[in-house]
Amino acid sequence: MDPKSQKVKPNDGHFIPVLGFGTYAPEEVPKSEALEATKFAIEIGFRHVDSAHLYQNEEQVGQAIRSKIADGTVKREDIFYTSKLWCTSLRPELVRPALEKSLNNLQLDYVDLYIIHSPVGLVPGNEFVPKDESGKLIFDLVDLCHTWEAPEQCKDAGLPKSIGVSNFNHKQLEKILNKPGLKYKPVCNQVECHPYLNQSKLLEFCKSHDIVLVAYAALGSQILPERVNSNNPVLLEDPVLSAIAKKHKQTPALVALRYQIQRGDVVLAKSFNKKRIKENMQVFDFELTPEDMKAIDGLNRNIRYYDFQQAIGHPEYPFSEEY
Ligand code: NAP
Repeated sequence: MDPKSQKVKPNDGHFIPVLGFGTYAPEEVPKSEALEATKFAIEIGFRHVDSAHLYQNEEQVGQAIRSKIADGTVKREDIFYTSKLWCTSLRPELVRPALEKSLNNLQLDYVDLYIIHSPVGLVPGNEFVPKDESGKLIFDLVDLCHTWEAPEQCKDAGLPKSIGVSNFNHKQLEKILNKPGLKYKPVCNQVECHPYLNQSKLLEFCKSHDIVLVAYAALGSQILPERVNSNNPVLLEDPVLSAIAKKHKQTPALVALRYQIQRGDVVLAKSFNKKRIKENMQVFDFELTPEDMKAIDGLNRNIRYYDFQQAIGHPEYPFSEEY
């Protein structure tokens, strides 16, 4: 098998390519960059594309996928596309309309994976991030077990092939897994995961329940400081990662991506730069030794680049739990 087509099989029998192309960019980045980058990523072999309603680029990402189908590079079934249900649509009756909106923007008949973006409900409306006059987020309190029944129904209708969650802690996952009448388990939990936040306990929990951990910010992000916690060290400048990279004649970025794959995770890598998009595909060209893996495990220091601090105080704020 071509190593580039390496996949994991989650609990519902569908396959997820282990390397995914991330498409989130701050608002000021022209959406045309998402279009061009996604097309290029598919041309050079990415088969898993990650986006979300929140990123406001599903129109362009969908266009990129459709254009690569139209020119014969891929067939629809070769592409694994993930979309996400945003926090303002966690009330069960809002889930299907939200998914249909994404499908309409994408101009696709189905998504491969639909995940609840975050367990933190926000009040429904036109604002992505609804705030009161004092600038505080306006929370919506929704029972996650009720929310979960809506993606289950959407899956039965064939709109997503698989369903999962994102940014859930193990207690929130447990709540879903223990829900009376559960029809489908989440196939994945997409969470921040990199050598500085290696999520070893959450990973163990997920593995024990046959849930795939999908790692985002695997390169330590680098999104603009106002969006992520910028007091943190830069992951790709870590001396241990650099030394391992040097030894393998690779880059720290590739070592960080390879680390996730060898732990059994699915890993996302965002780049809108052709050279780096190409570089990230080289993750299949080398292997880390058990000693390398151990040394990288040793870098964990529970640093979160995306801590969603504004949501602290919400009863479902996920990051107060140890894992
Ligand atoms: P990331 O993949 O950790 O890092 C992306 C940054 O690294 C970009 O600044 C990129 O810059 C740079 N980069 C990419 N390849 C590189 C390489 N080989 N060498 C050096 N730098 C490189 O960060 P992310 O975008 O925050 O996360 C990845 C994806 O996960 C997102 O795009 C999104 O799809 C998803 N995500 C999900 C959630 C969630 O809540 N579920 C949250 C955040 C992100 P260039 O573009 O200039 O190359």
